[in-house]
Amino acid sequence: MKPYRELSKEELLQLKTELEARYREAQAKNLHLDMSRGKPSADQLDLSMGMMDVLNSEANLKDSEGVDCRNYGVLDGVREAKELLGEMSEVSPDKIIIYGNSSLNVMYDTVARAMLHGVMGHTPWCKLDKVKFLCPVPGYDRHFAITESFGIEMINVPMTPTGPDMDMVEELVSKDPAIKGIWCVPKYSNPQGITYSDETVRRFARLKPAAEDFRIFWDNAYCVHHLYDDDQDFLIEILGECEKAGNPDLVYKFCSTSKITFPGSGVACIATSPNNLQDIKKQLTIQTIGHDKVNQLRHVRFFKDINGIHEHMRKHAEILRPKFEAVLDTLDRELGGLEIGSWIRPKGGYFISFDAMEGCAKAIVAKCKEAGVVMTGAGATYPYHRDPKDSNIRIAPSFPTKDELAAAADLFVLCVKLVSVDKLLESK
Ligand code: PMP
Repeated sequence: MKPYRELSKEELLQLKTELEARYREAQAKNLHLDMSRGKPSADQLDLSMGMMDVLNSEANLKDSEGVDCRNYGVLDGVREAKELLGEMSEVSPDKIIIYGNSSLNVMYDTVARAMLHGVMGHTPWCKLDKVKFLCPVPGYDRHFAITESFGIEMINVPMTPTGPDMDMVEELVSKDPAIKGIWCVPKYSNPQGITYSDETVRRFARLKPAAEDFRIFWDNAYCVHHLYDDDQDFLIEILGECEKAGNPDLVYKFCSTSKITFPGSGVACIATSPNNLQDIKKQLTIQTIGHDKVNQLRHVRFFKDINGIHEHMRKHAEILRPKFEAVLDTLDRELGGLEIGSWIRPKGGYFISFDAMEGCAKAIVAKCKEAGVVMTGAGATYPYHRDPKDSNIRIAPSFPTKDELAAAADLFVLCVKLVSVDKLLESK
């Protein structure tokens, strides 16, 4: 099939009639499918059921340092949890604070603390006239929701195949002291599955921000979430790079076991410099006496060490890989060469990012919904839900079964074709 834009008006009208007939058939199937959120499927959750057996009424709930985990105490996490999440975050255990069940919550808390109390003795952000954040786009909607909720102005920075546009990041950050942070998902990014190149990470580490309390919010949510055993992305470790660059306090690095064990019942952490850790703990000790140590122990005893996590992630990949491939193969087969959309084949993470022709994303998502397939809302991958090109759509293939996914992907490509034909007809 040749590119749609090379078709004549008559050919497009003919195609439209055929596609509409197929759309009516699809509607008659009464689908009820959800590709909107990056949730693990039930069979992925089953992989972690062994975690329910490692602690029972007979279990010794003392940690490796003799602390009784049934009781209060230990603000920054039990030793073995710091070791395990330290390995996962690629930093030493003394650079980590273990939190509760959600890294998003840690990120919210980190922004909230900066707003209320300031970063390492600097003016609280709430007392400043203007606070701005850089937001690589497309990005994670919940990051943008946090900064939006605090009235922080968000500035789009386009993603490239090697990470955010670093020329723009360097330029903005070095000139404007109101820019206090940037959201980053550096590995298998949400939604594009892009991993930042070595050069990008090093440029981040060498940033010279105008604001001394500028911080990089490095959300390494997908650090061990590979789809392939033999073809994985590699991300260099940013805290070490920052130290080398003489910028040790520049980064807050976040991580959690959410999409490793049970989302919402995992263990989250922050890894950062000793100065930042001290600053955080000053507030944290007011907020809590300590997080859920029993859950920390449960995770450590289930995995034992980082090899246990990698082994476990291979099982996740076996479930996820065919689903990603089902969607990607449908996109390749049905849309390849038509020049009405582009997509990236990720090697890990939870999403496939699809870019439709300009001005088509909202209409595609609406068409899918009318036929029973719910996608992430168009625009969600941009601050303020405003995708300037109305083009990006996030596809989350993890939750439906493979058969459901095949049906959903078929409908999706049909909707992409229909909306694109309409768009092209507008200009004929
Ligand atoms: N960060 C990113 C980039 C995510 O995609 C997600 C989950 N969708 C989260 C954080 C949420 O993590 P948690 O469950 O640890 O709050």
